[in-house]
Amino acid sequence: MNVLVLNCGSSSLKFAVIDPGASVEHVSGIGQRLGTPEATLDIKRNGSKSSRAMPGAAHGEALRAVVEELRSLGLADALVGVGHRVVHGGSKFSGSMPITPEVIAKIEECVPLGPLHNPPNLVGIKIAKELFPELLQVAVFDTAFHQTMPAVAYTYPVPYEWQDSYGVRRYGFHGTSHRFVAKQALAQTGLPTGDHAIVTAHLGNGCSCTAVRNGKSVDTTMGLTPLEGLMMGTRSGSVDPAIVGHVAAARKGPAEKVLDDLNKKSGLLGVSGLSNDMRAVEEAAAGGHERARLALDLFCYTLAKSIAGLVVPLGRLDALVFTGGIGENSTTVRARTVGLLGFLGLELDAAANAVHGKGQRGRITTGERPQALVVATNEELMIAMDTAEIARGNGR
Ligand code: AMP
Repeated sequence: MNVLVLNCGSSSLKFAVIDPGASVEHVSGIGQRLGTPEATLDIKRNGSKSSRAMPGAAHGEALRAVVEELRSLGLADALVGVGHRVVHGGSKFSGSMPITPEVIAKIEECVPLGPLHNPPNLVGIKIAKELFPELLQVAVFDTAFHQTMPAVAYTYPVPYEWQDSYGVRRYGFHGTSHRFVAKQALAQTGLPTGDHAIVTAHLGNGCSCTAVRNGKSVDTTMGLTPLEGLMMGTRSGSVDPAIVGHVAAARKGPAEKVLDDLNKKSGLLGVSGLSNDMRAVEEAAAGGHERARLALDLFCYTLAKSIAGLVVPLGRLDALVFTGGIGENSTTVRARTVGLLGFLGLELDAAANAVHGKGQRGRITTGERPQALVVATNEELMIAMDTAEIARGNGR
């Protein structure tokens, strides 16, 4: 039972054909710089990579090329469905949905909440429906997992009517990843399905933490948009909102430009002045670069503060999960963060931390409970699993 997983960004298209039952990825790839003369399509299969130039190709052409490739590999006919990553489902979706005209209309209604992401997601859905008119199409939302948050976690202390009038509330993101790694952590730790308190830390270019109580998200660090919460690669995370007006007035420029800088020129990049890439920041910090050191310190400090804050809704901590490019690979970030959280009863196992992330997953602390562990995320597999489950439910 194979599923085609699609993730369409503004100028990119990621795809994978996955057998969710066997957790096998048959082929994957990415179309990049779509709509420009430098557009390319890279395909990965059995450990080997091929790349082709597709000057000027837009999403439609790239997806058609992907389908040709799947046909030549004999993978196009055995699909049970297409699973689409959709970033913003607002309060309208609390789970993955088979795509119908009503679902498309609701995703369109969420465009003001996700103006950068939902439109390209919709383009992917439209093209996939044209190419595979008979196939089940499923939308898997980044926000859906967090719809279980109680009002006290999703309400902002702003004029209450902003919620109804403008949709101002916490939605949270990275839900597919948090859901996936929380499930994996349960399997790895043996914690009971019906009684567990886990914080999942998804640390990639974008970073967020979620408090998971008995399989449900009860609070998370990202908010109305992915700008809130932890310090990230280029995003500031939470800052005093008055900074926007202050800097705009000082520059005699628009607030939008300041917001753009908070999204694209802040975080690791803004503080270090060097890079949004944790590897480069760590290397420079180790070489004595002062601002790189500060960026690394600040990243771990804000992360630890947020994790500790999420223990409030949980009432206790059984497990802390590190995932994403930084969480899975940075021994330094994990060691520092666990070190700052010693008061919760976490004690680093330095030897385990040193080897984990290099293909090895599992516990990096000495005690059983609470414990910190490394789990590899796989959002594509989760999307394929949801699509296959809906296909089974539909009798396909
Ligand atoms: P992602 O968005 O999940 O692909 O994660 C990207 C982030 O992971 C970037 O900041 C990378 O620098 C970081 N990353 C990847 N490998 C390592 C590594 N070995 N050590 C530290 N950070 C890493």
